[in-house]
Amino acid sequence: MVPLNRQRAMSCIQPTSEMHLGNYYGAVEQWVTMQDTHDCLFGVVDLHAMTMPYLPAHLAENTSRMLTDLIACGIDSAKAKIFVQSLIPEHTELAWILGCKASYGELKRMTQFKEKGEQLEKLGPNDFISLGLLSYPVLQASDILVYRAEVVPVGQDQVQHLELTRNIARRFNRTFGKVFPEPSVLLTETPRIMSLADPDRKMSKSLGGRHYVGLFEEEKSVRQKVMAAVTDSGVLPAGTAMSPGVTNLLEILRASGQAEAAASFVKDFENGVKNYKSLKEAVADSLVELTTRLRANRKNVVGDIKSDVKKMSEAAREIARETIREVRKAVGLPKGLR
Ligand code: AMP
Repeated sequence: MVPLNRQRAMSCIQPTSEMHLGNYYGAVEQWVTMQDTHDCLFGVVDLHAMTMPYLPAHLAENTSRMLTDLIACGIDSAKAKIFVQSLIPEHTELAWILGCKASYGELKRMTQFKEKGEQLEKLGPNDFISLGLLSYPVLQASDILVYRAEVVPVGQDQVQHLELTRNIARRFNRTFGKVFPEPSVLLTETPRIMSLADPDRKMSKSLGGRHYVGLFEEEKSVRQKVMAAVTDSGVLPAGTAMSPGVTNLLEILRASGQAEAAASFVKDFENGVKNYKSLKEAVADSLVELTTRLRANRKNVVGDIKSDVKKMSEAAREIARETIREVRKAVGLPKGLR
C-alpha cells in the first residue's frame, strides 16, 4: 500500500528493443528511487511507438521485453503501478478531448515532431509524416493527466512536451473547471546524455549502434564503443574549455557514481594534463559493472510477464476510469457505458 499524501509521479518509456544509458541516467534510475517516496505509475507506451515505421511482431516483442528490462532495472510492481498504455483505452479517449484544447500551431512547433519528420522525409515516398506524429504530445499529455500526476520525471528532451501538457491542463481547467493539476518536471543531474560518436546530438538508438551504449550490452562492445568515443574534435564551443565529447564522458562517469574520479580528471585537465585514455577506461569500467549487474538481474526476472501486466494495468486503469468519469461530466458528454 502506498502511504497517504505522497505526490503522484508518472512517466513512460517507448518499447524499443533496447534501453540505453540516456534512458537510464536521464529517467529510469530516478524512477527506481522515487518508488520509495512517491505514488508512482510507469507506462510502456506502445501507442507512441506506432508513430514511426515499425513491424507489428517487433512491437509486441519489444513491449514484453521493455517490461522485463524495467523490472531488471529495479521497477517493482509491489511499489509502483506498471502498465501498458494500449491496455487502458482511457488514454486515447482523453487524448481526443485534450486535442480540442491544443492548437495546431503549437504542435507543429514541437522539436521532436520536426526532428522525426525530417527522419521520415529521408526514408522515402512510402513513409509520410502522420497525424499521429503531430498529435503525439497530446497523447502524452493524456498519459500524464489521466492519472492526475503532479510530478513527471523525464529527460531534458521531454521538457517541451511537458510545457505543452501544462498549457493544455490550464486551458482545460479554465474552460471546464479544475480537474487536472499542472504537473511539474523532475530532471536528474544528467538530463541529457549525448551520443558517443557525435556528442553534439542526444544519445539515441535511431542514430545507430556507435552512438549509444545499451543497458544490457556485453562487456566487449561496451568497451569498444567507449574507447572509440569522440573526444577533442575541432573547434570548441564558445566559452568552453572542454569539448562536448569529454564533457559527456565526465557526465556519464559522475552519473555512474564515480564523482571523485571525474573531479580528479577535471583537476588534471585544468593543469593541462589531458589523459583521455584513462578517462575512457574509467567510464568503460563503471559501465561494464552496470551492464553486467543489469544482465544478471534480467536473468532473474521470472514469471509470465504478459499475464502479470494485464493485472498491473487493471490497477492503473481504475485511476484512469475515475478521471474520465469526471472529465466527461465536466465537458458535457453523457456518462460512459463502462
Ligand atoms: P523514450 O525512449 O523516448 O521513450 O524516452 C524514455 C525516457 O528517457 C524519457 O524520459 C526521455 O526523456 C529519456 N531520455 C531519452 N534519451 C535520453 C538522453 N539521451 N539523455 C537523457 N534522457 C533521455
